[in-house]
Amino acid sequence: MQKISNLDTLKLFESAHIGVVIHTWDTSIVYANPQALNLLRLTYEQIIGKDSYDSQWHFIDDQYQRLATKDYPVNRVVVGDRIQNKVLGVIDGSKERISWLMVNAYAEHGLDDTGFVVVTFIDVTDSRQGFSFEQIVENAQDIVVVTESDKIKAPLGPKIVYVNKAFEKLTGYSKEEIKGETPRILQGSLTDKEGCKKIHDALVEKKPVAETLLNYSKTGQPYWLDINIIPLFDRNGEVTHFAAIERDVTENRFHLEQLKKRNEDLKLLKDELKHLVEERTRELQQANEKLALLAYFDPLTQIPNRRYFIDQTTRLIHFCQRHEYILAIGILDIDDFKLVNDKHGHDVGDEVLSALGGNLKKFFRLDDAYCRWGGEEFAFAVVSTDVKSMEKLCQRLLKVINEMTISCSNGFEFSINVSIGVCMRQADPNESLDTYMKIADDALYNAKSKGKNRVSFSTDIN
Ligand code: GH3
Ligand code: MG
Ligand code: MG
Repeated sequence: MQKISNLDTLKLFESAHIGVVIHTWDTSIVYANPQALNLLRLTYEQIIGKDSYDSQWHFIDDQYQRLATKDYPVNRVVVGDRIQNKVLGVIDGSKERISWLMVNAYAEHGLDDTGFVVVTFIDVTDSRQGFSFEQIVENAQDIVVVTESDKIKAPLGPKIVYVNKAFEKLTGYSKEEIKGETPRILQGSLTDKEGCKKIHDALVEKKPVAETLLNYSKTGQPYWLDINIIPLFDRNGEVTHFAAIERDVTENRFHLEQLKKRNEDLKLLKDELKHLVEERTRELQQANEKLALLAYFDPLTQIPNRRYFIDQTTRLIHFCQRHEYILAIGILDIDDFKLVNDKHGHDVGDEVLSALGGNLKKFFRLDDAYCRWGGEEFAFAVVSTDVKSMEKLCQRLLKVINEMTISCSNGFEFSINVSIGVCMRQADPNESLDTYMKIADDALYNAKSKGKNRVSFSTDIN
């Protein structure tokens, strides 16, 4: 019959997942299994035959106080104690990282110099934290993206292995969809190439990097991100992943641009010297050119401008092509707006445009595109699977604007009418936004010539 005492104990120790260290009674170490070496972060040579480890290495108690040598588990057992489930930290000066161990130690074969002290321990570092870092990351307001650190080259690398909820919310991509993809799919035509290169170069060198970059959501909505990338290391000090912590700064960016512009204007006014004015004008022109590139909002109505719209809608068109959705692109023009200006003055006209902008902002959803197209014309683009619901949406828009009461600063209250031309299409890869805008403009002309205050559709969908 098989006897348990026949078991090969040494073999058992060698393969066990708990650390086992055996001391002789004089505390020198005669045996340490592989897991013990791993958990104590020592080599066989560093440990065998020694009674205390090198000066870099020491135990701490659960109050982070360095343990006196006399309180090391082996020394306690020698003076007659037994150690049960004691949590101790191990610090190794070269790594500056604490491993937490749950330690047991007892005397074997009598309490004299023929005996041994057996110390066993397991790693409890993860559970000692007492709270979950994962929960913090998962529910943070900031976006967190983790990618692999190898194969970072375009077009497929680096691969995403984790995103948190904030990422899903801002980009519209679910965790399942984005896993295995590269963050490059969030970049687009206006994403700063130099910024991307700066990030790429840092990743190659496995260094941290910070950058502000324009990214795009799944449906093409552009947004500005403050990106902070840090390398993540494994136990051996090798970089295995990168974590990007990102914050949506689209609004800050817009306000910053406005503030900068105003400051520049003020400076200009104060400058009396002609040559200084000229110099500043040149600077301002350059700054304005830069701002024009960055600015996405119309200063009067505080809604997206034509540039933003073109950018977003071009992406919406591609989105529709991929998913075979229907796209409605509309142009909305205020009826007889010249009369408002003539009767009440240009400032009141401006207030009307602002009020209309505010209403469009309320009317459209986050994924819809809309903008002040120019003058008293506004544009929008909406995606759907169903023509009827889009027709209804356009009629509802007309109604909402007709029912709007505008209270102006001169005490006047009045309402306006608009005409809307809509191009409704199954997006075709051979057609561009220009084509669709032209069709919408023709439809608008149609609405005006039929007596204004109406929606006119141009659709090729049955
Ligand atoms: P219709 O019904 O045919 O569209 O007639 P309308 O008077 O609206 O069109 P028209 O194109 O003749 O005039 C547009 C007016 O919009 C003329 C212009 O002064 C005014 N406008 C354009 N941009 C602004 C602006 O920023 N502020 C103000 N107050 N008026 C503007
Ligand atoms: Mg017009
Ligand atoms: Mg008009």
